[in-house]
Amino acid sequence: MFVACELEFIGRSRLIPSFAEWEVAKGANHGSGRVGLSPVGKVIGMVVSGGAAGFGEISLSQEIINLGCVDVISAGAISQAALYALLRFPNVRMSGRILDDDITAESNLNRNMLTVKDDIGTSKVQLAADICADKFHLQPIVTRFTGTGSQIGGLASRVLLGVDDIPSRWEVQRQSPGWLAVGGTSHFSISSSDHSPTDPCCGCLHPVDDLAGGNSIPTVSFVSFWTGLATAVRLLRQCVGQPYGRDQQHLWLTPLRLDQPHAALWLPVAPTRNCPVRCPASQALK
Ligand SMILES: [Zn+2]
Repeated sequence: MFVACELEFIGRSRLIPSFAEWEVAKGANHGSGRVGLSPVGKVIGMVVSGGAAGFGEISLSQEIINLGCVDVISAGAISQAALYALLRFPNVRMSGRILDDDITAESNLNRNMLTVKDDIGTSKVQLAADICADKFHLQPIVTRFTGTGSQIGGLASRVLLGVDDIPSRWEVQRQSPGWLAVGGTSHFSISSSDHSPTDPCCGCLHPVDDLAGGNSIPTVSFVSFWTGLATAVRLLRQCVGQPYGRDQQHLWLTPLRLDQPHAALWLPVAPTRNCPVRCPASQALK
């Protein structure tokens, strides 16, 4: 939690160019979160000690790590947090597209990690593409993904999805040909999952729309940030061949109470007969 709060404070105006400097900037001993360099210089993706969140460790090469082509759907708080976290890795590169038709509003400033006040009124995808341009070549596409027709010519083999609307997730899942990571916020907690084509999908995870949550979007910055951070870690793990196992396919995390032993619930995703996506795992049950 402390890590997230400090990053929000740092914001885009003080983007820190390297992981090592980030470590220096935030200090070495804040709460249970720690991100930095190992004694031998290998980048540790993320370590959350004490067992509160249990993200585990990933050791990455110091060589350039190309994440390949990734489509990022939504340029809101979750996606911006994921990109912000990925930008902290000095040797990570990727290309792809970022899709959203929204413009930056004043109400976004507290939690959109790539955004500053001067961005109000501008396209979210354009500002995200511009900020990431040194490392990530993201084509900004001003559109709301609907999955209809040849709107964007098909999705990439890796997709990051940062929207809270559950039916929208179903549609992206239907259109995703490969791996999909889904990050969302709900009731002051975060939901993070990833789905390969043979896994139970995000429709199995959330087969019913959450109508009660539709009108209340969490605005606490670090809740959104943790969602993006968890999404970024899933992408890195997937790309370097260290994915979470099926028993960690879903994370339900409550950042407000990381002091509690069950603040992080790592769970498998079960295939569901009434999956609205009708994914292969669900259809195999019939
Ligand atoms: Zn499914």
